[in-house]
Amino acid sequence: MPDLKGKVVVVSGPSGVGKTSVMRRVYRQCRAPLKRSVSATTRPPRPDEVDGKDYHFITDEEFQLRRRRGEFVECCQVFGYDYWYGTLWSELTPGLGAGKWMVLEIDVGGALNVMRQFPDAITIFLRPGSRDQLQRRLRARATESEEALQRRLARAESEMAVADRYKHQVINDRLDRAVGDICEILTQEWEKSRDD
Ligand code: 5GP
Repeated sequence: MPDLKGKVVVVSGPSGVGKTSVMRRVYRQCRAPLKRSVSATTRPPRPDEVDGKDYHFITDEEFQLRRRRGEFVECCQVFGYDYWYGTLWSELTPGLGAGKWMVLEIDVGGALNVMRQFPDAITIFLRPGSRDQLQRRLRARATESEEALQRRLARAESEMAVADRYKHQVINDRLDRAVGDICEILTQEWEKSRDD
């Protein structure tokens, strides 16, 4: 492992919990030097998504090639989806070397893998206010079939079952409160790291 000055931050939460909106504000508000790690995926882009910014959208062939070459810190076919997702070393190492706090917004399987490789990682699990709230959000998104929705709900249940493996849990029942809670966790860690 190279000598890395930065820190790894892992944020997970079930699909529909509002992770993207929460984190978008955290990046703007938090004092720690955060940088979002852009994952690679074989999923096609949604209408508002930009290649290289939201994800590196690559073909299945390219994904498997890079996987065989060991280019991923972690990768998996995320449970309940038909697509592959993964964190590239080429995304993580330059940022960490430059002292950035690299934020990985990844599923629980990937997170457990990263926790083993980076035991000092700051890990945060974002929970919905309630199961009803999660269902409503997923239905409102409505970019998917009923079957895909049901898969996401089943997956949400299994994700929430491992929430206690994370160092922090934050409830997103109100956006500003969840943003504030995450910023506070990160700011405290940032101040602590500067005192060391
Ligand atoms: P979505 O397709 O809704 O953008 O993401 C689906 C799931 O894949 C989410 O739970 C998201 O956190 C997860 N995910 C995104 N990028 C990665 C990654 O690089 N690795 C892993 N393991 N999961 C990821």
